Formats: sequence, C-alpha cells, structure tokens
Amino acid sequence: GFDFYLYDTQQARTLSALDRVLIRKSELIAGFIEIYKDGKIEFEPHEQGDKLAKQSSVYDIPLSGHYYQIFYENGKPLAISPSLSGFSLPVPLERANREGSVFGNLSGPKGAPLRVYTKKIKFPSPGGESEGYTFVVQIAEDLTEVHGFLESLRNQIVYATPLFLILSGLGAVLIARVSLAPLKSFSKEVGDISEKNLNKRIDEEHVNTELRELARSFNVTLNRLEVVFENQRRFISDASHELRTPVSVIKSYCEIPLRRQRSLAEYREALEVIQENILRMEDLIEKLLTLSRLEQKSYPIRKDKVGLHAVVDATASLLTKVADEKNVKIDVVSPPQEIYVQGDKTSLTEVFVNLIDNAVKFNKNGGTVSITVRSGEGYGIAEIADTGIGMPDESLSSIFQRFYQVDPSRSRTSDSGARKRGGVGLGLSIVKEIATAHGGKIEARSKEGIGSTFTVYIPLFNPIAA
Ligand code: ADP
Repeated sequence: GFDFYLYDTQQARTLSALDRVLIRKSELIAGFIEIYKDGKIEFEPHEQGDKLAKQSSVYDIPLSGHYYQIFYENGKPLAISPSLSGFSLPVPLERANREGSVFGNLSGPKGAPLRVYTKKIKFPSPGGESEGYTFVVQIAEDLTEVHGFLESLRNQIVYATPLFLILSGLGAVLIARVSLAPLKSFSKEVGDISEKNLNKRIDEEHVNTELRELARSFNVTLNRLEVVFENQRRFISDASHELRTPVSVIKSYCEIPLRRQRSLAEYREALEVIQENILRMEDLIEKLLTLSRLEQKSYPIRKDKVGLHAVVDATASLLTKVADEKNVKIDVVSPPQEIYVQGDKTSLTEVFVNLIDNAVKFNKNGGTVSITVRSGEGYGIAEIADTGIGMPDESLSSIFQRFYQVDPSRSRTSDSGARKRGGVGLGLSIVKEIATAHGGKIEARSKEGIGSTFTVYIPLFNPIAA
C-alpha cells in the first residue's frame, strides 16, 4: 500500500511540476510575438536579449525534446520550432479556442512521448483601433526522461520492498530470539517446580529485569500453593490418624470375642463398643464431607428468612440435657423482637450446636453459657459466652483450623461415649465455613481460666435480595 502511494504521489508531483514548466514556457514563447502598428506580425525569438535567446536556443536544436508551434486563430501557422525538424504536431485548435487551454499526451518525432500544452492567447492591437489578435500557442516537452525516472523509481520499489521485508523479518526473528531467551530459561525454571519440590523458588535477583515482577508474583503464588499443599497434606494425615483409632478399637473388639466362645454379656459389650466407634467414624466422615462440600461450594446453603433467636433458642433447648449433665446453665437473652437473617436453618442450627456444645463442654462445673441475639452493621449477631476454661492467646488464631485442638486430651476426657461430644477439632472449621458461605463471619475472644466468647455474624434478611 505504501509503495503504491509513494509511486502515485511521485508520478503526480513530477507531472504537475512539468505542467507548470509548460505554462511558464508558453508565456515566454508568446512574449516573442511582435505586433506592429501597421498590422505586421512577427515572431523573433533571437532578437530579445541574451537571456531569452539562450532560453530559445533549445528550440533550435533538431529533436531536442523541447518544441513549440504558434497558430493564428484560423489555424494558419505563425511559427514552428526548428527543433521539430519538419514534424508536425497535431493541434487541438477547436478545443483550445473553446476551453482556453488544454493539456495532453501524444507521440512526437520518432514516436517519443510528449507532454503538450495548448493555450489560446489574446493580444490587444497596438493602436487600440481593432479588437486585437488571438493566437494559439502550443508547447511540448519530451517525457522520456520523466518516464525513465518513474521507471527507475518503480524498479527501486519492486526490488527494495521484498528486500526490506526479508531483512526486517530476519531482524524481528533475531530480536524475538534474543529477547525471549531469558523467558525460555525462566519458563524452564518454572516448569521444574512440581508438588515434590514446592519449596523451590525462582531466583528474583538473577532473573532479567523485565521478568523480575513476574518472578516475584510467581514466588508469591508458590508460597500460597505451598501453604495450601501443606494444609492438604496435614489434613489427610490428621484424617487418617483420627480414623485409625476407632478402626483399631473395632478390630480388637472383633478379635477378642472371635478367639473363643464368650458370654452373651461380653458379646453385647463388644458390640456396644464397636457401635460407639462406628458412630464416631460416621460422625468424622460426615464432618469431613461437609467441609469438603463447603469448600467446593457444592454444599446447599439456602437463603431463607430465618429467625435468629428462634434457631438459637431451639438449639439451646436441644443441648439442655447435655448441659444439665455438666451442671451448666444455658441462658438465652431474648431480643425485644425477632431478628431475621438470610440463611439456611439446618446449617445455622449446626453452627449453634457446635458453639453451644463447646461452651458447655469446656465450661466449669456449675458454669453458665449466656447467649444474646442482636442486630448491627447489617448483620444478625449471636454471641455465645461461657464461663469455662478459656484458651491461651496464641491458640485463638488457630482454633478455626481443621483438626486443631488447644489440648486434645481435655476435649476427649469429657467424651464418655456420647457421639457428639467426641471432639476432633473440626467443629469450628465447619462453623467458620458455614458463616462464610452465608456471607457472614465469626470472631472469638477468650481469657484463660475466665471464659470464651464466640460472635457469629449472619447477614440480615433482605426481602429485595431474596
Ligand atoms: P472440638 O471437636 O475439639 O471441640 P472444635 O473445632 O469445635 O473442635 O474446637 C477446636 C478447639 O478449640 C477445641 O479443641 C478447644 O480446644 C477450643 N475451643 C473451642 N471452643 C472453646 C470454648 N468455648 N472454650 C475453650 N476452648 C474452646
């Protein structure tokens, strides 16, 4: 496209420059026409001083490529340039008379291409007695040189363009190779990292400046992935560990009665222990499944209008028997009016079962669990405070992690077989995942020996969103 544009503008410019020369020359040649008072008309190019004589000399050399012809209005010739050597150029007399001036291309002597300008010129009569005189002046210039110039331009374009394209293509490949080399080694370094060497990092200092930012964000991602992988690994090992204990108990309780004949009471006791451990495993598997579903966002969380106080109250009633066994009082403070949140009743019940159960389980004999429900900042807020053993500050940040227990022995000692009470450190992880899935959150405060307070925030019911 650029080539075409270049050639086209160059051609137009050259021709218009030539046309301007032709116009100037026509004025020059017309200046040589002399009209005398007695009506005599003469054309004398050589009598008008040195400069003009010099200009007109090119018209004396035969076939010089510069020609002129002057005609009277009626077509009778006044002067014909000697350089034409007898060749007569066709004159568009009628058109020149009609239009005033005409440009055209035609073949001159020996077939040479010519650019021709024909112009009608009016002269006043010297005495002013008649209308004046009209002549048709024709100037022609050989186009061979112009054509030669345009052809060489065309050739340059035709040869230079592919050469330019090839060279720039090669240049581009070279630049791409050189500039992509560091990226190649970077990509190899990245490619060498797998789950087996997730602790490996890209050396940010020795990487190309342009890639440093990329290396940095890659390392940040690797840090995150390493934590996730580590958590996953620990999760699997903790889960296997938790399942191994009941399985070994079941195994031994199967082996003992099978070794020899036992009494009915002994069989019964064995089956009871087996059942208790199966229930414990079932509970653990159920919790693991819930967590996995919550994480994959495939856990069905409904967005119903749920009365927060009603759920808390119902859950507290469910756990009264367990609390009574531990001589703990559950005290639910009713709000002036029900607070409706947007949530899933079953999941919210699970949240409060876990929190109230912990508040009872880790309470002192004769302690209290105080539950208040209120609203604020767009949330329905439930606060579960106990007067229990509390937790050290350093544990507070970890209690929502899976399988985390401040002291595994203290949550098991109270586990005298009741299924729900057998803590494995998954309850608070589930509580946190459910609160998050609701668009809410959970916070914990605690003082060792004084008690703990868990605050759950669930978004208030919004009829428009629902
Ligand atoms: P668990 O099944 O052991 O109760 P959770 O995930 O519910 O697991 O709780 C994790 C750990 O947080 C518990 O083992 C316990 O150490 C601590 N914890 C939870 N709630 C309380 C509480 N109300 N008072 C004191 N410690 C608590």
